Amino acid sequence: MPGFEVFGDHERAQVNEVLETGVLMRYGFEGMRQGRFKALEFEKSFAQKMGVAHCQLVSSGTSALSVALAVAGVGAGDEVIVPTFTFVASFESILMLGAIPVLVDIDATLTLDPKAVSDAITPKTKCVMPVHMCGSMADLDALKAICDAHDLILLEDACQAIGGTYRGKALGSYGDLGCFSFDFVKTITCGEGGAVITNNKTFALHADQFQDHGHDHVGSDRGAETHPYLGYNFRISELNAAVGCAQLERMNDILAQQQKHYQFLRAAIKDIEGVTFRHVPEGGVENYSFLNIFLPTVALAEQVHAAMTQSGIDACFYWFKNNWHYISGWPHLTQAKSLYPMMPIVQERLNKLATQDFSRSDHYMGRNVSFLIKLGWDEETLKHRAALMTRVLEQILSN
Ligand SMILES: *Cc1c(COP(=O)(O)O)cnc(C)c1O
Repeated sequence: MPGFEVFGDHERAQVNEVLETGVLMRYGFEGMRQGRFKALEFEKSFAQKMGVAHCQLVSSGTSALSVALAVAGVGAGDEVIVPTFTFVASFESILMLGAIPVLVDIDATLTLDPKAVSDAITPKTKCVMPVHMCGSMADLDALKAICDAHDLILLEDACQAIGGTYRGKALGSYGDLGCFSFDFVKTITCGEGGAVITNNKTFALHADQFQDHGHDHVGSDRGAETHPYLGYNFRISELNAAVGCAQLERMNDILAQQQKHYQFLRAAIKDIEGVTFRHVPEGGVENYSFLNIFLPTVALAEQVHAAMTQSGIDACFYWFKNNWHYISGWPHLTQAKSLYPMMPIVQERLNKLATQDFSRSDHYMGRNVSFLIKLGWDEETLKHRAALMTRVLEQILSN
């Protein structure tokens, strides 16, 4: 996944173009900027790559999610369905708007279980947010059918799955809105950054306004612009966008390298008895940022994770016990530890999560071990890694 592995001359050259003019902001200063618009350039090129009409670049993936929810009209007391296995940004972006994150179970895809989504729908539900964790997707056809039947927004969090596809479409472009992150550990990086993509013209217009204090961006005098709606500041700087422009040019190469490494490791362990892989929905192609396996039991998964780490396999994750990505690691959420008062209904609903039964999710997460795919491995490293992984798995699973 890590774009940070490939920072180099291209990135420096792009950033220097911005430093030469000194115009670090994406709007205004036409006289000084010598026609350089890095954020705009990135947006045009990224929309084209994703096969959508519009892209709005913002300051982070988390702000992309908040902007997307806001333009979709999600707010006070509305319910947004999200998976138990995700990144904290899912509920943060929802809570920021006064809405309620409704966490539901995942399945063998390691993403939203469509049945759990159906069961969680109430008259207050406004949006379903699948999170394409670790490079692979939710069953989007099933989720779209549910959203269509209940008139809900389908918002794809594709922050970890850039470049993956579903039925020939880029992940993030299938739903009403799609979000990406370009933070420092994502497949491509801006340092910090995020994007919202959509084919909906009104959503795009409102995203453009909302992320910049509600500015209408009409005319050439920023000070004279009007504010059709209340907004916020989620702008990206030109420096960050410039890094993104360079990384975007590398994206295809990065994805190809990732796929090569993933396939090599997968082939090495695929016939080991007791190892199974996450389910990829029919019509889906992963972006190959992680290799995810299931072990037969929770105890075996814990053993495998410990042994992998001990034998020097870096970037091997046991998300079940990881504070960033699974419901069991978020007491601050379930205890609603907010610095400022929350609406009582939001607080109540968060507190209820502490006692909700997520044994279906535990069933998958407890048995999952996840391997980050890196770009910089040479052939020897890759072979060594495959051999180590095979040895650990065979040793533990033959007992
Ligand atoms: C990284 C990430 C985000 C948010 O990204 P930031 O840019 O760090 O705010 C959101 N969702 C998922 C699944 C992520 O991995």
